[in-house]
Amino acid sequence: MGNVFGPVPSRRLGNSLGINLTPLKTCNYSCVYCQLGKTTNFTNERKEYIPTEEIIEELNETITKTQIPIDYITFVGDGEPTLHSGIGEIIKWIREKYGDKYKIAVVTNGSLFYLEEVRKDLKNVDVILPSIDAPDEKKYKLINRPIMKIEYKKVLEGLKMFVKEFKGKVWIEIMLIKGLNDSREDIDKIAEIIKSIDPIPEKVFINVPVRPPVEKWVRIPEQKSILYALKTIPNSSSIAFREEGEFDISRYSNSYEAILDITLKHPLRIEQAKKIISEFNENTEIVVNKLIKALKIVEYDNEKYLIKW
Ligand code: SF4
Repeated sequence: MGNVFGPVPSRRLGNSLGINLTPLKTCNYSCVYCQLGKTTNFTNERKEYIPTEEIIEELNETITKTQIPIDYITFVGDGEPTLHSGIGEIIKWIREKYGDKYKIAVVTNGSLFYLEEVRKDLKNVDVILPSIDAPDEKKYKLINRPIMKIEYKKVLEGLKMFVKEFKGKVWIEIMLIKGLNDSREDIDKIAEIIKSIDPIPEKVFINVPVRPPVEKWVRIPEQKSILYALKTIPNSSSIAFREEGEFDISRYSNSYEAILDITLKHPLRIEQAKKIISEFNENTEIVVNKLIKALKIVEYDNEKYLIKW
């Protein structure tokens, strides 16, 4: 249990019911801006990290119980979802049971589209949200820190191959980081990469590390870099702001349990945690004191966050 979460408010997907397919930090990248902590299971192996049956059962139960309308069922979570070899089967199950009632999205680092099996698994989703953060191979290694064998060239070729055949929407996400990929030269190169994708992605989200990153030196770029990116990169819009909205807490019996579970996937601002506590009509001081023992408080960008790692 605990592999399906939410619906949680998402800056791009409204109320998103999240599906996590891997144990914490199972990824073939170790991005400097990751909000989930260090990559502890650094792998490029596709396998059934969590039994597919178990995920489907949990998904079924959560969809039946949730009281918040679902905009998207989203594959996102504790690692790279396309590393799970059962993702195609889960997508098939959602389609067979619900048809087009729910939109399906996959938030992915986009690294595995060079594999035909991954392209096949994802071909029936509504939206894919792959990342393109690097202007070139060298910066790819610095920002995304992929497992040895992966080359940026191969990653981009795979993505282009998928997009050519894909009937759904492609929304790229670019994480701009101060001093790493926010210079005019780097933004120009990223823009060229986006333009070389055919058809050109419907949306390109310009993001910044709004939540505490794994590497403490990671910084939010200056506004002028964000504006230059918006001017230069086709179909771009900014998501460089904090998300607002409600968390679905209906399946939790108390605020402590809810906050612990949510922070497993999602660093929470103290004010968001307090709001959850007030919704359970519990004593804020008592719950916060208990939370401090189980979680870390990290100050980042003038905000205090509760995080699990
Ligand atoms: S940000 Fe995503 S792709 Fe990068 S290390 Fe974290 S989980 Fe992996």
